[in-house]
Amino acid sequence: MIHVLEKHIADKIAAGEVIDRPVSIIKELLENSIDAGADQITVEIRNGGKSYIRVTDNGSGIEAGDMETAFLRHATSKISSVRDLDAIGTLGFRGEALASICAVARVELISKTADAKMGRRVVTEGSEILANEGIGCPEGTTVTVQDLFYNVPARQKFLSSDNGESRRIIDMVSRIARAYGDVRFTLINGKKQVFTTRGKGNIFDAIVSVYGSDTGRDLLPVERTSGDLIVKGFVSAPSASASSRSRQIFCVNGRVISSKVLEKALDEAYKEKLFHGRFPVAFLFLSIPPEKLDVNIHPTKKEIRFDDDFEVHDFLVKAVRQALEVRESLPQVRGEN
Ligand code: ADP
Ligand code: MG
Repeated sequence: MIHVLEKHIADKIAAGEVIDRPVSIIKELLENSIDAGADQITVEIRNGGKSYIRVTDNGSGIEAGDMETAFLRHATSKISSVRDLDAIGTLGFRGEALASICAVARVELISKTADAKMGRRVVTEGSEILANEGIGCPEGTTVTVQDLFYNVPARQKFLSSDNGESRRIIDMVSRIARAYGDVRFTLINGKKQVFTTRGKGNIFDAIVSVYGSDTGRDLLPVERTSGDLIVKGFVSAPSASASSRSRQIFCVNGRVISSKVLEKALDEAYKEKLFHGRFPVAFLFLSIPPEKLDVNIHPTKKEIRFDDDFEVHDFLVKAVRQALEVRESLPQVRGEN
């Protein structure tokens, strides 16, 4: 059931306008698809997402009677009390994404649940409902967003070229695709398929299908559990470092985030192993009890706060050092340079 949050709960949510460009729409739509339990998600864009974005999933779908409610501000099926904010287990919880998107674009939402005989199609334009009708469709949800900022031309000026916006989208979708190895992601830009992941639950496969086998060859597995902290993933051998942090991906409880704490821990683990200005490649998946972190500190949910930075820092340094030591104790097959 989707309901509008009571004001005292809504007021506690780190809010703000988060739709500034196509990539932020796609991030919100992907989070919704993942929250809906989809294991196949297709993203299609045209003109860098400015004229057309479509996200199709095979998730749980939305009940016919909830279709219009989903577009209201603070309407969510994911939390219902202030206490829920202390342990958020879904990617979404603010009930704002669809409301913000439909205010600045033309949106079509098509959805069908497993129980429903028929699907439902709702069309909106500038927050106004233009149609709400039955439609034959497969189980799951398809959201189409057209003509972003058609009604706020001033904001169109801040968008980059089609290529610039496409690059941002490809980068973000590939990050999320790597974080969810068991979801089959397909990204289509215009008529061209950018990538498709196998969705077989293997992080390594997902990394290789996005980055190519060269990156895959130089990765060392990371795996450590300590108390209620778990980390899994891959880091690069020191010889395969990168010139920026663009290939560092941190995923905490399924959420792709940026984190100074985790970046520092990585740097610490590689201290004296890398030249100045070189960065390790890392794909790290942490799982932490939800009550030990706060995801409600940033409007785009891109940053999180750990209750205990030191605990997480130490844990990650140890985990990564362990991976590097295993490598160092093996006979070298190739020269390090
Ligand atoms: P939030 O994700 O914070 O709850 P949104 O505005 O993104 O808010 O979505 C509102 C509600 O619409 C969600 O709580 C969910 O119930 C429903 N919803 C949106 N997208 C999907 C989807 N792809 N599949 C199933 N339900 C969805
Ligand atoms: Mg959402």
